[in-house]
Amino acid sequence: MYIAVDDTDSRSGMCTTYLVFPLIEEIEKSGLDVIGYPRLVRLNPNIPWKTRGNGAIVVRAGKGYGRKFKIGEYKGEELWAYEKGKNIMADISIRSLSRYFILEDENTNPGVVISLRKLPESLYWKGVRYILSMEYVEKILDNYGARIYKFKNGRGVIGASAAIAWKARRYTYELLTYLPRDRWKKERWVDERSVIAMDKKTQSTFDNYDYRNKYVAIKPHALTPVLFGIRGLDPEELIRAKDMVKSDAYEGWIIFLTNQATDDHIVRRRIGEVRPYESVRLRGTVSKEPKVIEGGHVIFAITDSSGEIQCAAYEPTKEFREVIKKLHMGDDIEVYGGVRKEPFTVNLEKIRILRLKKIKVKVENPICPKCGKRMKSIGRGKGYRCRRCGIKVGEDSARYEYLDREISPGWYEVPVIARRHLARPIKLMEC
Ligand SMILES: [Zn+2]
Repeated sequence: MYIAVDDTDSRSGMCTTYLVFPLIEEIEKSGLDVIGYPRLVRLNPNIPWKTRGNGAIVVRAGKGYGRKFKIGEYKGEELWAYEKGKNIMADISIRSLSRYFILEDENTNPGVVISLRKLPESLYWKGVRYILSMEYVEKILDNYGARIYKFKNGRGVIGASAAIAWKARRYTYELLTYLPRDRWKKERWVDERSVIAMDKKTQSTFDNYDYRNKYVAIKPHALTPVLFGIRGLDPEELIRAKDMVKSDAYEGWIIFLTNQATDDHIVRRRIGEVRPYESVRLRGTVSKEPKVIEGGHVIFAITDSSGEIQCAAYEPTKEFREVIKKLHMGDDIEVYGGVRKEPFTVNLEKIRILRLKKIKVKVENPICPKCGKRMKSIGRGKGYRCRRCGIKVGEDSARYEYLDREISPGWYEVPVIARRHLARPIKLMEC
């Protein structure tokens, strides 16, 4: 069976991923094994009512067989999972989970879904790219005989269902470490130099440290049970990476299989067909020059034959804005980013410059062919005249040079400090 939980935390505390520990405890109590890595599934990042990272967790339980591997540790106990298994339905105490729900937060609406069978994959794609309605999801859950547990409006049922439906066609891993309960609301310490050393020594981890902004990205900025989380492609290397990081003591760690860094949220669209709350990939030509607005945000527009849309590199994207400022009208680019309803703007995650427009700039007026004096412009587009001889020449007699564009075709992305969970880093684009 698949047990999924979503929408249990709040901006002020907790983390849904922590529930993996009481959940595994319950699974083992009922005599079942954990099958495969627990999963952390991020869903549509643009929906307005998300709690924090908009991630649901799923654990598969049943009778395990095949290779057995370590997935974590908790309070001195090793946690194991089997590679394969047969799903078995059992009773799980929801109460042991619900004591961690932040029900007093008005935006927290936990949901738990238990299903013997995997849910249809379309539910995942709709959950990661669009907005699912409770009615639609409940109809499917009903057809599949899934059990649901709602707290308050129970909106978490939607994300939990979408998470069960994830087939992991593309995936990465994240190893998370957790503080003991009495430290959840306190300041914590992760040694910056050890994170840099780990980043340099490991091959398959990513988004550990932002060198330019001197930012330790493995440490969440909110005070939650999570001490740090390391992302990567190889679970074995993540375990070694964890041991390279010097930090406060933690009481548990776990490896999740996740859809982070997969770009699964991105849909390819024509510009005129973009709808709010989607994350899109658009090809177009720059149609409005980038300009810096109040707050340091950089705004421009792109167009194709179907329409025009505004794009933004907001202040938190730091040095990425310097690239955007160098774009000019006529450049062909591809943009990736999320769109909200208000403002209806692509919030850029990365861009690919396909072709830079050659821009001619006049460096000198022409020289009079008769007397050798510098000629004067008659007016925009009208050519030049010699004041002394009265000779006229055309506009193209002036000396022009191509503008040094300072950027070249290729990929550019927001720095690690501004990276979204689902956005695929350029370094992984070929994987
Ligand atoms: Zn002259």
